[in-house]
Amino acid sequence: MRVNTLKRAAVAFALALPGAAIATVVAAPAAQADGCYTWTRNLYQGRSGEDVRQLQIRVAGWAAYGAIVRIDGRYGPETAGAVKRFQSAYGLRADGIAGPQTFAKIYNLQDSDCTPKHFSYTELDNGCGKGGWSGGPLSSSATRENALRTMWKLEALRRGLGDKPLYVTSGFRNIACNSQVGGASDSQHLYGTAADVKSGTSSLCRVARTARTHGFSGIFGPGYPDHDDHVHVDSRRENNSDRTSNSKSWSAPDCEIG
Ligand SMILES: [Zn+2]
Repeated sequence: MRVNTLKRAAVAFALALPGAAIATVVAAPAAQADGCYTWTRNLYQGRSGEDVRQLQIRVAGWAAYGAIVRIDGRYGPETAGAVKRFQSAYGLRADGIAGPQTFAKIYNLQDSDCTPKHFSYTELDNGCGKGGWSGGPLSSSATRENALRTMWKLEALRRGLGDKPLYVTSGFRNIACNSQVGGASDSQHLYGTAADVKSGTSSLCRVARTARTHGFSGIFGPGYPDHDDHVHVDSRRENNSDRTSNSKSWSAPDCEIG
């Protein structure tokens, strides 16, 4: 699906080059779907497939308080609830059915590499100043995929904080980088499932509190050792490769969390 879309985009671009029809091409629906992923049917409870899985990745940051959205390709109540919260957050009719308006909003939010518009692979991959997704316990493609999922949750958190900039101070760290910065030996940062963030406008406590309704099963902030200058958020519940149990862990004593 993605290959086809990219190919179509490439053809459209090539056609646009010789003539004066560039404006027409830019306005075409293919440009709106932006070369990342295109949904071709409405999705609602009972449906399943790759299109559901792609949707789940993008709405996973709209889980209920303390909950997660499983990315399993099956549209159940969890997914419907997340779609509803996504829809109300963006002023759409909140019916829990993903149709043209919901997909249009997602197209509008995502870049051609499938990252949400306010976050980038580069930002999540600056561990110790080096690029690349290798050197962790997972394959680089699995790590990169985790980073993508992390970014969609961050986009939701950012929206929850009033659409003001949210800065990632540390994302993926390979094993060498993680020990260099004194990270925990089985840190979620090694898997691409974590981000340390700060906001220019919201207090760290507000960031930590808001993260509770955006699918983060790991939250550490003010009052937790070494977390007074950032909030750490992660997806440890979904991580089946680490050594921790798949349970929620929140601690920010100064914010009355945990
Ligand atoms: Zn962290």
